[in-house]
Amino acid sequence: MASNKNPICQCVNCNNRGWKKYPIRRRGGGNAYLCEYHAHSLESYFAENSLRIGEMKANGFTYSVELETSAADFNARLELCVAGFLPTADSTVFAEFKSPIYNGANALKAFLPSIQWLLDERHIAIDNTCGTHFHVGHDTMINSRTMDYIRRFYHSLFLPLSLELERNDDKATEIFGRGFGYWAQAITAHTSPTEHTNFINTQHENTLEFRRAFFRDAEQYSRCADFCRKVTEKVCKTFCVKVYALGLESGDRLTEEQKAELKKAADKTARQIVKLFRDF
Ligand SMILES: [Zn+2]
Repeated sequence: MASNKNPICQCVNCNNRGWKKYPIRRRGGGNAYLCEYHAHSLESYFAENSLRIGEMKANGFTYSVELETSAADFNARLELCVAGFLPTADSTVFAEFKSPIYNGANALKAFLPSIQWLLDERHIAIDNTCGTHFHVGHDTMINSRTMDYIRRFYHSLFLPLSLELERNDDKATEIFGRGFGYWAQAITAHTSPTEHTNFINTQHENTLEFRRAFFRDAEQYSRCADFCRKVTEKVCKTFCVKVYALGLESGDRLTEEQKAELKKAADKTARQIVKLFRDF
């Protein structure tokens, strides 16, 4: 007869079963089991985390975090996996934990002190090779239809902000947590809009990725998240709405008139996000 002390338990990440649970220290006690695989191995770099946390908010924004670490022990894995993160392999760092998709900023912000705790207790380490890339999505405004035009008007949208950040590097570093660098580059008029290392990466279909974001502490990252959300909001409200207003679909060939309208909207967005940074 099986002992009651060791009931069969299920891995927090998959269906694998085991016998021994470990105490969760950070999240109000309780115990959880991590299978052999999820305690020691990593999912592929391309694995996506589709888990959603929190109710969808009226403003429509979603958030997710790529937590790159230069070290992470078993406790860190347990805490992060219980919170819905996916441990994945990234050749440039020790392990990248992909967060769930948070519906609304409160769900995201509620978790930031746990990352701080993992750092303070030395369960994880984050060094200069690691980014804490921040993704902002929107349920109706950021999708393959609008992203096509965000890429086509990339320089109009983001070059003025990039230049402004370069001119005010101290302030930008305070917000983002780190400077421009190889993995989060300032852009020029010649940068490809889909270059992976651009400080705002537009390779994804459903999010803008802010690659300069770096977790120094919960308060700084929370502020950084606010800034990135506000930038995305301007892109949605000033630029993406124009894509819809013109009835454009992904891949459409633009008339000169449409081109001019989108350029105007992109320039206006750029002025708004530069002002956002100045006032932030
Ligand atoms: Zn597992």
